Amino acid sequence: MFMGPPGSGKGTQVRFLKEAHGWEHLATGDLFRDHLRLGTPLGRLAEEHMSKGHYVPDEVTVGMVRERLARIPASTRIVFDGFPRTVAQARALDELLGQHGRRVGCVVLLEVPREELLGRISTRGRSSARSDDSPEVLARRLEVYDERTRPVVEHYEKAGLLRRIEGVGGVDEIRARVAEVIA
Ligand code: ADP
Repeated sequence: MFMGPPGSGKGTQVRFLKEAHGWEHLATGDLFRDHLRLGTPLGRLAEEHMSKGHYVPDEVTVGMVRERLARIPASTRIVFDGFPRTVAQARALDELLGQHGRRVGCVVLLEVPREELLGRISTRGRSSARSDDSPEVLARRLEVYDERTRPVVEHYEKAGLLRRIEGVGGVDEIRARVAEVIA
């Protein structure tokens, strides 16, 4: 499982893992954006929350993950990206994984100082097609992360599953740190 605030570089590192190991990539943000492109009711509902920098309600998010999980073969490893983001989601995931005979193997937290994040995301904001990358919405996303996702970090820390990685440096350098922790 990959955790880290918006702009921490999760998506980039998760894509490397996916390519290197053939793991299934389950990114709730990507799934919501797919729904939005397809114009489904779920996509429209998610957009109302995403565009404000708020989280999509837990029942909706968990429901979508439940469906996705049911379609992944039991022998395929999954790397979660951007889920769970709330303690309620983490509890729901534990239960869902149990139903599939799965468990969380490792939680990687990419740590990046706030000033660095603000710099990165304002650069990404200028080139991004995402409606939630404007400076105001990004600031809100960071606040929501602190309020609702930091407790999830504690949840996995207590469970002894958390590995912290310094997310500042070159992409390849960070990739090597991730590989070491996962090995
Ligand atoms: P980032 O990590 O850069 O914020 P994501 O693509 O993971 O980007 O998420 C974009 C948006 O999608 C979030 O700000 C939120 O509105 C919504 N979202 C994604 N995953 C979840 C989740 N697990 N629970 C609630 N909302 C989510």
